[in-house]
Amino acid sequence: MLRERVSENVYWFQSEIYAQVTAGVVAGPQWAVVIDTLALPEETLIIREFIETELRVPVRYVINTHYHADHCWGNHLFPGAMVVGHSLCRKEMLTRGSKALEAARQNKQNNVYRNVKIAPPQLTFDQGTLTLKVGKKNLILMPMGGHSRDGIAILVEEDRVLFAGDSFMPLPYIVDGDLEETVSSIKRVSKMGLENIIQGHGDIILRGEIDSAVKENLAYLAAIKKAARLAARRRNPFEFLDEVSVESCGKSRVYLGGLAEDLHRGNLKILVRQMAADNPRVSKKTTDELPII
Ligand SMILES: [Zn+2]
Repeated sequence: MLRERVSENVYWFQSEIYAQVTAGVVAGPQWAVVIDTLALPEETLIIREFIETELRVPVRYVINTHYHADHCWGNHLFPGAMVVGHSLCRKEMLTRGSKALEAARQNKQNNVYRNVKIAPPQLTFDQGTLTLKVGKKNLILMPMGGHSRDGIAILVEEDRVLFAGDSFMPLPYIVDGDLEETVSSIKRVSKMGLENIIQGHGDIILRGEIDSAVKENLAYLAAIKKAARLAARRRNPFEFLDEVSVESCGKSRVYLGGLAEDLHRGNLKILVRQMAADNPRVSKKTTDELPII
């Protein structure tokens, strides 16, 4: 587990086990806020222990940036906290989240999720902003779609630090979301005058790196859109897509703990399904068989 102090009372955690997924903590004098939990209970427990022993305050709120397992399946480890998120996040956790957990529990070789309970947001919103005062800092919660329909971002107003959730990633991932909405979220983030972007996966982006990260992500999305459009015109679109590597779209395959290639394939697949829905060679399967992170 990597840990860093981002600014006064603001901490960042990154998994070294699963897809470089991240979480955050903002501490006040009396209580703390957790922003997302990690993929495995044992990792979330390390964060909890850090708060208990180093910060020595109880956790009053857990904010979820979206409903995907690697960001919220540790909620139940903070039983005294109120969970906050998008109203769709609550809905998705109770439906798709519960189903996914049930499926994960069927895996007999790997029973790390046996004690996990779905703890959906109790306090929800779906438009505008929600402001939470933690000590001297304002946390401003706002919808931030693209990666998923229930995405939110959290701005630490005084520090200009944005917890962007998965709307900003080293490799944008749109299988459960929407390409154009991801583009507009990335553009919105680029205009926020930020010191740091905390991505839902990957490293902290520093002020001087924001422009190039934004450019790279927009170029990647344009490249996969173009490739999918070309593929959709072919008789066998997926054969064409096999040749479209992650590098040819301007990204490295080592991103996200080596998952970048798989996610890239998922992005291309979903775009072709949207663009060539009437081609009999294009299966109309749902997102179920594509990785959701
Ligand atoms: Zn996600």
